Amino acid sequence: MANAKSKKDPDGIQGYGLKGRVVTMKSESEVLKNCTIYVNGSGITAVIKPGDAIPVELKDLPVFETGGTIFPGLIELHNHLSYNCLPLWPVPKKFTNRDQWAGIDLYKNLISGPMSILGKTPGYVEAIVRYVECKCLVAGVTTSQGIMLFSNAGIRKYYQGIIRNVESPANPDLRKVDAHIPDIASKDATHFLSQLKKASCLLLHLSEGTDESARNHFESLHIGGDSWAITDSLAGIHCVALKREDFNRMKQLGASMVWSPLSNLMLYGATADIASAKASGITIGLGSDWAPSGSKNLLGELKTARLYSDQNGSIFSNYELISMATRNAAKIIKWDQKIGTIETGKLADLIIVDGLTGDPFELLLHASEKDLSLVVINGVPRCGSTNIMKKFAGKTETVDIGNTTKVLNLIEKEENPVVGKLQLSDATTKLKKALKDLKSVAKKMPLLKEITGPDNTRFFVPVTPKSENEKEKPSFVLVLDHDGQEGGEIRTRLPQDELTQMKQRKEAIIKPEDRDIPSIKLDPLCVDSDKGYFKNLKNSPNLPDYIKSGLQKLYS
Ligand SMILES: [Zn+2]
Repeated sequence: MANAKSKKDPDGIQGYGLKGRVVTMKSESEVLKNCTIYVNGSGITAVIKPGDAIPVELKDLPVFETGGTIFPGLIELHNHLSYNCLPLWPVPKKFTNRDQWAGIDLYKNLISGPMSILGKTPGYVEAIVRYVECKCLVAGVTTSQGIMLFSNAGIRKYYQGIIRNVESPANPDLRKVDAHIPDIASKDATHFLSQLKKASCLLLHLSEGTDESARNHFESLHIGGDSWAITDSLAGIHCVALKREDFNRMKQLGASMVWSPLSNLMLYGATADIASAKASGITIGLGSDWAPSGSKNLLGELKTARLYSDQNGSIFSNYELISMATRNAAKIIKWDQKIGTIETGKLADLIIVDGLTGDPFELLLHASEKDLSLVVINGVPRCGSTNIMKKFAGKTETVDIGNTTKVLNLIEKEENPVVGKLQLSDATTKLKKALKDLKSVAKKMPLLKEITGPDNTRFFVPVTPKSENEKEKPSFVLVLDHDGQEGGEIRTRLPQDELTQMKQRKEAIIKPEDRDIPSIKLDPLCVDSDKGYFKNLKNSPNLPDYIKSGLQKLYS
């Protein structure tokens, strides 16, 4: 086998082939045995089936027998990654809408307080970003939602690293996706419609909860008569309170949805009426929401989706489930010309699951992180088993996952301005220590001030006193999108109860009380590295038993 190492290419790759069983996801039946995918630069240059002639220019390229089944990389359309170093939150009761949990003490103590201490104290953001990005990477997530940062120079930006992020894709062929976290109030529907008309795709939290107030957020999109603030740019996240006619309306107006069943079941004991969503014909994507109440990664969320579907009359086939995390997701964000299926001319975002036999869709749905022998993003092998990764240049470190060792390549063409050369192992050590002794970190935490950023958005940023002559080093803080709806537009006239909640959230951010600062365990990198995972799921009060036991089975 030839060696793909080269000094010329900054990523160390000149072009190579990956041979295995290929699930293109172009259709359910297109599963190609003994097929070779040729990759050059960031793209797929050819998909060669047995018997096909190999083009002359590809003949000399090294081809690696992977012994695995190759799928398109997983595309996650909803995640608040900045929270993903936190473990599962001990959900205290069954909530009926999302405004009920964001203001309570248990939330402040275990989620918003710790994250504002870590996320707003210089020196920790890079560790968080590195860690949560690797949590995606080891699970084959090649695209997710981004992490918003705010710099001391007053610049708001999305972190651009190894995983593609939908809001800031760093590729002129991929149009950026807009994201909107606060609910839309009725009076804002017309303005929101104008935002939708400008957007290629806009991801909106929509009706997260089971009660009337959650559903009213859908009604708020009704401008009057036949006019709705719903277009083919709208992707509604959660849609838990929607009725069949609401899904029909979304379909009629071209909208799509993103489903997050585990998080919904944990917080509300219920999830979207996904059978009605399917019946309406809308395109459905998938997202794990966030670590405090969701799956560790999209590979896990696929399993919950499968279990929910099976329990409720086999709503989806395995192909349809995996479509949510590949081709459908790409279609929702209008990136389907470039990602979501394996085809010549598309970007090389690929995952390989160990194994060549049996049903390929079952193979992926039963896979855990240790079973992924390779993850390729933009043509670059980023994470994989030692025997495959040793064929490529660019190893930065190894990480143990279950009983396997994976090799990571976190090298970027230009040094990343946020994470630099920070290794996952160093980020892990730093976060473990910081979360364990948050009180010490809090002592270093700068005072925060609330500022209005571009487009009338609000942020909480450190007040960094400095002398006149002293030049400030560039540093970044996390924008925490659940807290005080940072990064969201400031709404001028809030109902009184919302104002109170805002105030509570703001207090949690600005002034963590010493007595309220707990010691927290870093959430393990993946399910295979988390010995307590299933026990924690068992303790989750609203999660149905078939999910608890079913997940354990799908992971074993
Ligand atoms: Zn969310």
